[in-house]
Amino acid sequence: MKYDYHLHTEDSYDSSLKAEPLVRKAIELNYDEIAITEHLDLLPQELRIFGLPSLMRYQKRIKALQSSHPSIKILFGIEIGDYHQVQDFAQNLVAEIPFDLILGSVHFLGDHTNIALPLPKPLTANQVKDYYLQNLNLATNCNIDVLAHLGVYKRHYPSIPDESFAYPIIKDIFSVMIERNIALEINLSSLRNGYPSFLPEPHIIELYLQQGGTKFSIGSDAHYLEHFDLYRDSIPMQYQTSFRHSN
Ligand SMILES: [Zn+2]
Ligand SMILES: [Zn+2]
Repeated sequence: MKYDYHLHTEDSYDSSLKAEPLVRKAIELNYDEIAITEHLDLLPQELRIFGLPSLMRYQKRIKALQSSHPSIKILFGIEIGDYHQVQDFAQNLVAEIPFDLILGSVHFLGDHTNIALPLPKPLTANQVKDYYLQNLNLATNCNIDVLAHLGVYKRHYPSIPDESFAYPIIKDIFSVMIERNIALEINLSSLRNGYPSFLPEPHIIELYLQQGGTKFSIGSDAHYLEHFDLYRDSIPMQYQTSFRHSN
C-alpha cells in the first residue's frame, strides 16, 4: 500500500504544488492513496498576514479532483497548526466539514520562535522541552488523527542531536497518542533539507514502539512537485503500513 498523507497544494499560502499534476504523478507512481492537507494556521500573527482560507472552496476543489480521478483515493485533509493554542476557534471552523484526515502540528514555541523555518542556531534545551510540551498539549486536548512532523525544528540541523533529556516528555506524548488513537507521522521533509534522517528519527520511533505504538502515517510534506515521492523508499518496511489500513 503506497500512500502519502501530508501534501500542500493551491490553498496553502506557502505551496507551489498544483493538485492536478500531483495527482497525475501519484497515479503514475502507483500510489493507492494521497491526502491533500492544506494549512489551517489560525494564530493572530498568521491570520494577519495570510488570512483565512475558504474551506468551502477547498472542499469543492477536492470533490472535483476526486470525481475526475477515480483510479486513486484522494483524501480531503487539513493540517491545523498550533491547534491547542486556538482550540475553540479551530474546532468550530472544522466541525461541520467532513475531513477525512486532520493533522495536528506545532510550528511555534511559547517564545514565538517559528520552528518550521530554518533557525539561526539550534534550540536550547529549554526550548526543546517547550516544543515537546506543546506537542503533549496538542495530543492531549485536540481532535486530530495524526501528529505531524514531530521534531520539525531539527530539519535544517547538520547532525542528529542528543536529546535524551526530553525523552520523559516524548514518552508522555506517545502514551497519550496511543490512548487517543493518534497516528505518528514519519515526515520526509528533513531529508531534503540535509538532515541525516526522516523525523522522528528511528531512535525516537523506537520509544513509540516500546510504549506499544503501532499506528504510522507517512508524509512528504511536499510544497513542490519535485518533492513528492522523494526519499519515500528510505522508510523501513515495518513502518510503511498506513494507520487507516492497520487493524
Ligand atoms: Zn507543518
Ligand atoms: Zn505541512
